[in-house]
Amino acid sequence: MTTSNGINTLTLAVAFSILLAAPAPLVFAQGSKTPEKPAPWMDKSLSPDRRAELMLEQMTLDEKLQLVHGAGFVFPDKAPDPGSPLARSNGGAGFVPGFPRLGFPDLNLADAAAGITRGAVRSRYATAMPSGLALAATWDPQVAYNYGTLIGRELRDQGYNTSLGGGTNLMREPRNGRNFEYQGEDPVLAGKMVGQLIKGTQSQGIIGDIKHYALNDQETGRHVANVMMDKRTMRETDLLAFELGIKECEPGMVMCSYNRINGDYGCENQYLLGDVLKKSWKFKGFVVSDWWATYSTAKAVNAGLDMEMPDDKFFSKLKQAMESGQVSQARLDDMVHRILRTAFAAGVVDRPPVPKVVDLLAGLETAERVAEQGMVLLKNSGGQLPLNARTIASIAVIGSHADVAVLSGGGSSQVDPPGGNAVPPPPTGAQDEHPLGMQQVVWFPSSPLRALRAKAPAAKVEYNDGSNPASAAALAKNAAVAIVFASKHTTEGFDQPSLALPGNQDALVQAVAAANPHTIVVLETGASATMPWADQVSGILVAWYPGIRGAEAIANILFGDVNPSGKLPITFARSEADLPFARVPGSELTYPPLKADDFEPQWPPFEIKYHEGLKVGYKWFDAEKKTPLFPFGFGLSYTAFAYSHLEAAGDHVSFTLTNTGKCAGAEVAQVYATLPASANEPPKRLVAWSKVALKPGESRTVRLELDPMLLSIFNVDKDDWELVPGEYKVLVGGSSQNTPLTAAIQIGATR
Ligand code: BGC
Repeated sequence: MTTSNGINTLTLAVAFSILLAAPAPLVFAQGSKTPEKPAPWMDKSLSPDRRAELMLEQMTLDEKLQLVHGAGFVFPDKAPDPGSPLARSNGGAGFVPGFPRLGFPDLNLADAAAGITRGAVRSRYATAMPSGLALAATWDPQVAYNYGTLIGRELRDQGYNTSLGGGTNLMREPRNGRNFEYQGEDPVLAGKMVGQLIKGTQSQGIIGDIKHYALNDQETGRHVANVMMDKRTMRETDLLAFELGIKECEPGMVMCSYNRINGDYGCENQYLLGDVLKKSWKFKGFVVSDWWATYSTAKAVNAGLDMEMPDDKFFSKLKQAMESGQVSQARLDDMVHRILRTAFAAGVVDRPPVPKVVDLLAGLETAERVAEQGMVLLKNSGGQLPLNARTIASIAVIGSHADVAVLSGGGSSQVDPPGGNAVPPPPTGAQDEHPLGMQQVVWFPSSPLRALRAKAPAAKVEYNDGSNPASAAALAKNAAVAIVFASKHTTEGFDQPSLALPGNQDALVQAVAAANPHTIVVLETGASATMPWADQVSGILVAWYPGIRGAEAIANILFGDVNPSGKLPITFARSEADLPFARVPGSELTYPPLKADDFEPQWPPFEIKYHEGLKVGYKWFDAEKKTPLFPFGFGLSYTAFAYSHLEAAGDHVSFTLTNTGKCAGAEVAQVYATLPASANEPPKRLVAWSKVALKPGESRTVRLELDPMLLSIFNVDKDDWELVPGEYKVLVGGSSQNTPLTAAIQIGATR
């Protein structure tokens, strides 16, 4: 067989085997079977840009055109046609064939937001990590780095070289079905955490990704919605998360989003891709489209899209667009250069992945530690927790399949559960029929019942499935403590109709709480939920989607082997009425019934004006003087912390943090700033934080630098960040609503 470049497959095979064997690939001239000389771009002492330049010089037009799009979509459950290039793919969501004659590897892209997906069909194992939001709740950049490192290592072990993780859309809309994949509602926290996550992944020689750029803050109408927003608001909110994340890790890829922004789709948006990302932020990597998020050829390419995924629906017309002068040769070369330099910089050319068995034991350990550090204790009346393993006589465990499993979020980030779904859906259920299994509810085999029994072997620990509140209450009545597991499945492709827990769960908690004053609720949710029963229970622990060792982590926290230290990366509202929108924008529209081959609902086009603007999350609650159920930054510990001795200057703050309680613990100390009134900003914004571990009685002086950019506003006329001169207030404490230390600082015009 002869390829379009005139090289026969035998030549390719020979070249490939030489490449595998030889440390430095050799150059094959077009059509030649004999190598000419060692490839100059394999010289590791050259910069990634120089190496890319050298390789680019040797590429034919067809090779260049081949590199800028995927070779097609590999359906998880369908083997590709053996004759297609896809047959060589590693089975991930994206595949770009490489060039053996040049020593350039295939790019194998895998969804890997919270672990590597699509394991089942190839019988591969990957660690199912806690959700992205659970990670954000740790507020610990080092934990984010470790999380990303684990994903990078497992990608290598599975033979992938490119990650599609790194979701960082802001939580503007608490009912967004993908909030669990993201890093919460604050751009500074989200940017820092996702930046460290991607940095960890890239440390393993993987091309990292940040997504979905931008304003893809809801699933309702994600392919058709047109988000209308002024530049200042964009730059200070959603785009700031990307700006900080990109600065933190220099990701190889930025994935543009499905939706329109001010009229233009994310993947053909000159302002977002050309002006902001590439010009202002000097992004050196490449822009990849979300899957089928490319809607044009010349317009997309000229705006800044570098790679169409997963196929070439539009980029198949790129050659034609060049011939007709709509796209320049220089632009194509720039696209290719960006992809090549990214591959060299990430190490995928020099250090190709060598498949091996994933280190599952190390993965379980990391997953458990992250889950523990991200769980947030919201209520602990009368020191109900931790439970005493020696004295507790009985525990009623209720609901959410807590006898066998913990919940996970759905969609393209779904990691396949080892051993299959721990709670298989009914075999004929409609949810089975979705082509990507978007709506299939997947439970990981990590049993809270078993983990709790292991903690208190002498106690009587019994389970009730919660389907009948009266029967659950009867079990709870005779137990020393009742633990109700309340859960809510959320998924890509669909938003939540409300913030309420589905089914009879509110009634269940109320019935159990009425029967037993020692009722603890453990929430397994993608993001926030309303809790009409919050005053009636004695303990509330948010476990999020806690991953493959979720149950063990929950038990460690409930029994005090681990002191909770997570803080909310989002606001929990009391009710829908307190949100900027009573329902998800666009959800009042109707769409035709889902057909078997629809990936998701076919919404009619509509506009979204996020009228809260700069006031995302807690900023809305502050500005509107609404009291949340639990505020951003909040989370309890089994110990207590005191704040004192604040000193604030224009460039730093320092204060003393003391553990005043009886056990060791970690506190996320948060610094907020109020800008001068003339800045016209929401009442306060997060500008710095530190997670500090202290022994009982221990004190520490915490010094945190203040980044001038984070105190600035975005001046659209100057197209730059600007410090507004005047008096700033600095607020320091353990949550956005509890800042015992305050100080005023003056910032001059010239700083
Ligand atoms: C999602 C992306 C994902 C891609 C590939 C899209 O539907 O929005 O986050 O990486 O599919 O699976």
